[in-house]
Amino acid sequence: MPLKRYSVFAVAREALRFHTGWERAWRSPEPKKKYDVVIVGAGGHGLATAYWLGKNHGIRNVAVIEKGWLGGGNTGRNTTIIRSNYLQDPSAAIYEKSRSLYETMSQDVNYNIMFSPRGVMMLAQTQHEVRGFQRTAHANALQGVATEYVGPDRVKELCPIINIDGPRYPVLGALWQARGGTARHDAVAWGYARACSDMGMDIIQQCEVTAIRRENGKVAGVSTTKGEIDCAKLGIVVAGHSGVLAEMAGFRLPLESVALQALVSEPIKPCMDVVVMANTVHGYMSQSDKGEMVIGGGADGYNNYTQRGSFHHIEETVRALIETFPMISRLKMLRQWGGIVDMTGDRSPIISKTPLENCFVNCGWGTGGFKAIPGSGWAMAELMAQGEPGPLAAAFTMNRFREGRFIDESVAAGVAH
Ligand SMILES: Cc1cc2nc3c(=O)[nH]c(=O)nc-3n(C[C@H](O)[C@H](O)[C@H](O)COP(=O)(O)OP(=O)(O)OC[C@H]3O[C@@H](n4cnc5c(N)ncnc54)[C@H](O)[C@@H]3O)c2cc1C
Repeated sequence: MPLKRYSVFAVAREALRFHTGWERAWRSPEPKKKYDVVIVGAGGHGLATAYWLGKNHGIRNVAVIEKGWLGGGNTGRNTTIIRSNYLQDPSAAIYEKSRSLYETMSQDVNYNIMFSPRGVMMLAQTQHEVRGFQRTAHANALQGVATEYVGPDRVKELCPIINIDGPRYPVLGALWQARGGTARHDAVAWGYARACSDMGMDIIQQCEVTAIRRENGKVAGVSTTKGEIDCAKLGIVVAGHSGVLAEMAGFRLPLESVALQALVSEPIKPCMDVVVMANTVHGYMSQSDKGEMVIGGGADGYNNYTQRGSFHHIEETVRALIETFPMISRLKMLRQWGGIVDMTGDRSPIISKTPLENCFVNCGWGTGGFKAIPGSGWAMAELMAQGEPGPLAAAFTMNRFREGRFIDESVAAGVAH
């Protein structure tokens, strides 16, 4: 039976009966023996893949298998920056597709994901960054991505709490994307989960994939903590654990897994209505709807699977940001955390067929994949449904590392996100 739609009338009806009539937001079924498609990983990318498989390709006999709770990986741990001001054409295409899908996602999935296109600026604090961001603004103009390079006065106008005359790194300008912004990260996962469940798909939580079964060079199914599940096609969409799943499938991925950390302050009155990234001092900040300052820093300098925060990162990140935002020196920090991100050498993702037939992989979004969730799901669904990549995914094969066709985004991905 389809789920009841959320609407202003539903809210009013439930208010009148003391909210006793809300049904569960998605079903929690036991796994079936066989599916047409199994997706491993109920993060944003896995759920978006399932959603577009159903919406664009009519494939609905789908299970999304998650070892923890849905959205409990990086999707629920990121700092929610959405932008598409990348340098290379394939990146601009997929990130802009994604950004544009965010504009209508609340209506598309009938779930308020709180998309807030408040504007994102990436500060230029060295001459090198000035040249880099001016070049990106020109590239974006050719790609049809609306960005502009702005001077320090405009930066101050857009974000008055910035100190543009910092002692070490004065603000020289910024790359500004007015329709970039943020969205509520959990709601993105919940919205897709609900829409998938509504299409009859099974989202199976607390179920870990422990092995990938193969027959005659093709995928046959997965072994899980809830038993054996057969499938015709398998999608591996597990971010920081992609290398672990690839090993189960018998191939290797050109990835490193590292912890990336973030923190939030105590809530304060509204003081900043844009997102600011400061790559040189290495930190970025926005204000959540609750009033907390959401602050992100860099990734650990060594590979690890430790999904938690550490004190030295807080110190380094906050010390750096205080130069540009002196007012945060008096803020108390509320909590910190970490997520395991999957980094490729060229800082671009992999959406690809694999050496195992009918097994596909979507990973390598590293420190900046939240913004890509809807577009990545669109491209991965196209690849899985057709067996070949469509225009959005064509450049992002895993073979590009062997063939030397890198999509170098190390400048755009610089501080991350
Ligand atoms: C601190 C931090 C800040 C970030 N900030 C931003 C930002 O501002 N903007 C941005 O665009 N991106 C940001 N990112 C990156 C972004 O969060 C990720 O790129 C994106 O969320 C990846 O989504 P995903 O669905 O691929 O992975 P995940 O959400 O991690 O989902 C993968 C899922 O796979 C599951 N899984 C793993 N192994 C198994 C198994 N064996 N069996 C079953 N399930 C399994 C995991 O439990 C997990 O839920 C940030 C990341 C972090 C950590």
